Amino acid sequence: MKVMKFGGTSVGRPDRMQQVADLVTNQQEPVLVVLSALSGTTNALVEIGEQLSKGNKVEAATLIDKLEQHYQSFVKELLQAENSRKEAAGILEEHFGFLRIILKISFSESISKDILAQGELLSTKLFCVFLSEKKIDHVFLPALDFMSIDANDEPELTKISTRLTEWIKKNDTKKLLVTQGYICRNHRGEVDNLKRGGSDYTASLVAAAIRASVCEIWTDIDGMHNNDPRVVEKTFPIEQLSFDEAAELAYFGAKILHPASIWPAQQYQVPVRLLNTMDPVAKGTLITAQPSAAGVKAVAAKDNIIAIRIKSSRMLLAYGFLRKIFEVFEKYRTPIDMITTSEVAVSVTIDSDLQLPYIIQELEPFGTIEVDKNQTIVSLVGHEIATTPSILSKLAESVNEIPIRMVSYGGSPHNITLLVPATHKTALLRQLNTGIFGLS
Ligand code: ASP
Ligand code: MG
Repeated sequence: MKVMKFGGTSVGRPDRMQQVADLVTNQQEPVLVVLSALSGTTNALVEIGEQLSKGNKVEAATLIDKLEQHYQSFVKELLQAENSRKEAAGILEEHFGFLRIILKISFSESISKDILAQGELLSTKLFCVFLSEKKIDHVFLPALDFMSIDANDEPELTKISTRLTEWIKKNDTKKLLVTQGYICRNHRGEVDNLKRGGSDYTASLVAAAIRASVCEIWTDIDGMHNNDPRVVEKTFPIEQLSFDEAAELAYFGAKILHPASIWPAQQYQVPVRLLNTMDPVAKGTLITAQPSAAGVKAVAAKDNIIAIRIKSSRMLLAYGFLRKIFEVFEKYRTPIDMITTSEVAVSVTIDSDLQLPYIIQELEPFGTIEVDKNQTIVSLVGHEIATTPSILSKLAESVNEIPIRMVSYGGSPHNITLLVPATHKTALLRQLNTGIFGLS
């Protein structure tokens, strides 16, 4: 069995949803389809939640009406038969009715998760109505029946696997199974989610859970590119990546893939393929355990990074100093991305300022603290690049007039990371495209 996951833009228009139906029915082996919400829906639901959290019920109601109108016209174009339109109308009534009931009760964190879940519930149900209209045999599997996370928000892969395997055994004549990405139940049994962009994560977890032959992630671009196509003009899709390379790229900013979505597939050696719904014959990117050839595969950028420097000539040499610093970040559950040290100072980066004031306050007794906001991490990723001497000199030659705040080299053999002020990101990405990839 294979897993095929389709993102928001792949199902975001009626003609695209029809195309997805064609793609999933044209397969040699049984398919488990994972769908995101229609593009724009989760953002709209976030906004509805925000308005409700502020007590702005009228604004929230207006947003709900607007979203419903969008779905009304979507359904009209997607479905032709009277009975399927009727069924779809019932689905819209159920989910938009639910949102309107929420308007009347008091808002809470767990209700906001219920709101966010509506997107994937709607997209999968409407897709199934479409499949039925086309007389395509399929079975619908609610993700809330098998996807779960524990008290630390970590997916319970063993439990997910047991539930899914049992369910698939019961439906072993079915060639097409449909489920939702993103949504799950938490340890209290409430509706929860795998964070924004989490449908990729669902796909990888599900693929690992059923030991799928492949986990296909269908988006609107033909694979992972060597550089950010939104910033740099000439980029190209990378044919093959190792799990480690893909994980680094996803973590350090390649938007095509949710950062956590590599480990489940990697753990069970399920190949991941990134494919393009708008160009289904394009090769895309294949991610496997196979280490690829040495050399820089890609450059990725991650924005909104904060650099913190702790300067202390008195304490830095003392052992235990770094541990004390790390403990501050641990206490505030804030992961550190980059770290560089000198004899008198240490710099670290974080990607969230939620706990920043508390962190600074607790770091102050250790020395002088300097904070640089609006930084960007630019990562070069590729097999053995940090152990291939010529790459460092090539990198140095490529970069011109860019104030580099930090460099991380040698942490992993497959990664070299630079930190620059966000205002220099575009220039740096372009210079690297020319210097490293020979593209202007
Ligand atoms: N619909 C969710 C989001 O927009 C999950 C996903 O699309 O992956 O974040
Ligand atoms: Mg996505």
